Amino acid sequence: MKADNLPEQVQPYLLPKPQGNLVYRCLQCGAEYPIEEFLYTCPKCHGIFMLPDKDFDRLKEIPGSLWREIFDYRKVLNIPGLKGIFLFHEFIAPLIPVADIVYLGEGHTPLIEANSYLQELVGCRFYYKNDGQNPSASFKDRGMACALSYVNYLIRTKGLKEVLAICASTGDTSASAALYASYLRGKVKSAVLLPEGKVTSQQLAQPLGHGSAVFEIPGVFDDCMKVVEYLADNYYVVLLNSKNPWRIRGQESYSYEIAQWFNYELKDKVVIVPIGNAGNITAIINGFLNFYKVGIIETLPKIVGVQSVHANPVYLYYLEPDPQKRVWQPVKVKPSCAQAAMIGNPVSMPRVMQLVEEYNQLAGERRVFVVEVTEQEIMDWMLIANRNGHIVCTQGGESLAGLVRALEKKVVKPDEEVILDSTAHMLKFISFQQMYFEDNFPPEYEVKAKEELKNAPRLVKPGDIPVFPNERQLNEDEFREFVEKTAKAIADALNLSKRD
Ligand SMILES: *Cc1c(COP(=O)(O)O)cnc(C)c1O
Ligand SMILES: [Zn+2]
Repeated sequence: MKADNLPEQVQPYLLPKPQGNLVYRCLQCGAEYPIEEFLYTCPKCHGIFMLPDKDFDRLKEIPGSLWREIFDYRKVLNIPGLKGIFLFHEFIAPLIPVADIVYLGEGHTPLIEANSYLQELVGCRFYYKNDGQNPSASFKDRGMACALSYVNYLIRTKGLKEVLAICASTGDTSASAALYASYLRGKVKSAVLLPEGKVTSQQLAQPLGHGSAVFEIPGVFDDCMKVVEYLADNYYVVLLNSKNPWRIRGQESYSYEIAQWFNYELKDKVVIVPIGNAGNITAIINGFLNFYKVGIIETLPKIVGVQSVHANPVYLYYLEPDPQKRVWQPVKVKPSCAQAAMIGNPVSMPRVMQLVEEYNQLAGERRVFVVEVTEQEIMDWMLIANRNGHIVCTQGGESLAGLVRALEKKVVKPDEEVILDSTAHMLKFISFQQMYFEDNFPPEYEVKAKEELKNAPRLVKPGDIPVFPNERQLNEDEFREFVEKTAKAIADALNLSKRD
């Protein structure tokens, strides 16, 4: 639909103009720096940045009800730059002209309500928001679309030549970075650092396929991160890890979409999200805060982070109820099926600490919680979800296991409605399903296959068939015999009743 066909009151706002005043602000010392510089940590104190809009209050001049109409009507326009996360342009990266936005189909992922069997089994009404349906099959595309749109804008306005974009990754960040960088061929090149043997073959194939320079490091993610940080401090590169606050802003779209999906009514809603480097939970909290401050939503939903017992520093931190007594301590991770969240020293932890306090304060009660789940629970719940029409990866299984734990601990009540983050597509982490089905997890994972969740292909090769089509060309009689006897064997195995 065209803008002139839409109601008059929204027309002046449908096509966003560049606006806002974004700055890098150090979380630790408060120093501010202009966004034209490639900075990722504070030169004064090494603190990490948020990327606040110093003119944020201008957004409050438009009433919440009008914002809701703007976003809802903007959705029917056929402007590619506004089809994805930039539907919420004013809240994502408002200085970027629509023409510089890189849109590869990210965002606006569907919320799929669990079937009644699964809802009864779990004990409350819940949905998966399928972020595995983003172009590189994980939520990381939300942040990458924002970060690369900004780089694209800088390249045009500053006349930069071939920028090198670099990141460390548990797999999905590099897949996403490589995809968006390859779209900007000639302007951006990408290089990714992966922990050797700690990403799935699908995740390794993605950056290779998009032409990225791929480096494997003998260590875990936290080690790769240190190398990348050193590179970013000492060489001219664009850092694409979630330390880069442009990524956080893009990922805030996840919260905006949830708000829009439920007609901006978030009373009794709970969002459950796995925590690794803590960029995603940072963005989700901040996204809801932004919409709340402008009056687009009137309730701050409950947020529950989930960690595996094998990588649980955030859980351990919030275990202490008294904020004064909490002590931050990174942990040494053990192998986890939720491999994308296998991080012992989350980069965004200072952001989380600050935002959780602000969130709880504004809500007037504790609204952010963290629960812990076992590796066994992650695998079992992933398989159960996928046996009920979902397409979740191990981290998505972790979300559901987290819901079960949260209900058990009464962190979530049965009459609340829950949105689970399905952070990536099941196919990206399919090797864990395979290990489960073959019941051959290395012992350190602490996962044993349950018979009722296992599955395997069955070879149909009845002994009374003399020759099979993969041996040679069959004649007509041979082929009929092959079809009839094979069909009979399958019908017997499935207990089918014959037509009369
Ligand atoms: C990156 C990632 C996570 C962890 O998100 P953080 O922002 O690092 O906390 C979880 N699941 C998947 C599939 C991921 O790719
Ligand atoms: Zn500082």
